[in-house]
Amino acid sequence: MTDDAAKPKRRTLSADDYVQGVLQGDRAILGRAISLVESNARAHRELAQDVLMQLLPHTGKSHRVGISGVPGVGKSTFIEALGTNLTHAGHKVAVLAVDPSSERTRGSILGDKTRMVALSQNPAAFIRPSPSSGSLGGVGRKTRETMLLCEAAGFDIVLVETVGVGQSETMVSDMVDFFLVLMLAGAGDELQGIKRGILELADMIAINKADGDNAKAAQRACREYQGALELMHGRNASWKVSVVQCSALNNVGMSELWAEIDRHRNESRASGAFEQLRKQQRLRWLWQLAEGELVTALHEHVGVQAIRQDLEREVYEGTLTTSLAAERILSAFGLHNERSDV
Ligand code: GDP
Repeated sequence: MTDDAAKPKRRTLSADDYVQGVLQGDRAILGRAISLVESNARAHRELAQDVLMQLLPHTGKSHRVGISGVPGVGKSTFIEALGTNLTHAGHKVAVLAVDPSSERTRGSILGDKTRMVALSQNPAAFIRPSPSSGSLGGVGRKTRETMLLCEAAGFDIVLVETVGVGQSETMVSDMVDFFLVLMLAGAGDELQGIKRGILELADMIAINKADGDNAKAAQRACREYQGALELMHGRNASWKVSVVQCSALNNVGMSELWAEIDRHRNESRASGAFEQLRKQQRLRWLWQLAEGELVTALHEHVGVQAIRQDLEREVYEGTLTTSLAAERILSAFGLHNERSDV
């Protein structure tokens, strides 16, 4: 008997079952609702949208915080400590992950329950690994919709973890209210961070592992980042990006750090910047989704597929101009220079 056959058959849930279950904070149903929004099957997507539409009035109320940093910087240790502190303070914390490598590794290296043992057993916390299939855009859609489901289920803080690699960081910073970048002192990290433009995404930089022999270097790194930031514009003109130190391992500096994140929320709510950012994020998401779907449709189009090999060969060999080849692709797709500027 296979594993599947051994499992008791799960009851099929209606949209209403999902909606009621999520609103009641039923973790099993929340998990199934997330699997539903993660599914690429058309029927599932329709049901998922029905569920999300009904839950929409109950979403948006959480504090959304992105946490990024290179592997080894201490993200899971940090989230374990921060999440535990927050649940002790009475919050309900959801931890989601965006991990662009998970498709290749066939399993998530982020948001993994084995990496956050205490939090995964904490009834006030909910950990969901990165969706593992699809493009980065697809992962982004699933994570955003998962965030909405968690909010509807009553989680008032959503932490979105991602690795410190370009595109996924940009994407996560565009779905959260506050973007925190963890850094290490030394090893040229200071310069790397500046090069990757990460300082332009960050609302706060935390130098982690500021303990033991590393404490002095952490202090120095703190000053260097502060110096670098004087010369740059953050993502929000009215917020001065702060640089702090912490030791996730020893749970030191964590409450001061969260107090700063809270201050950002209070200030940006009072000034209207908070709601403004959320609105802009929703609009950008709309176009990212539409554009993503368009690209998928283009590649899957039968007419395009019929000519692509020949066109690619000619462009590859240099016997056809790239512009002409692109035009032929678009015309096979059914687009005939209908743009407003021609
Ligand atoms: P991730 O890959 O970014 O999730 O990093 P991990 O949380 O798995 O941490 C990588 C290593 O750094 C582990 O051995 C942790 O115990 C260690 N670590 C994490 N935070 C700290 C810290 O604040 N101080 C020290 N000394 N070690 C830490």
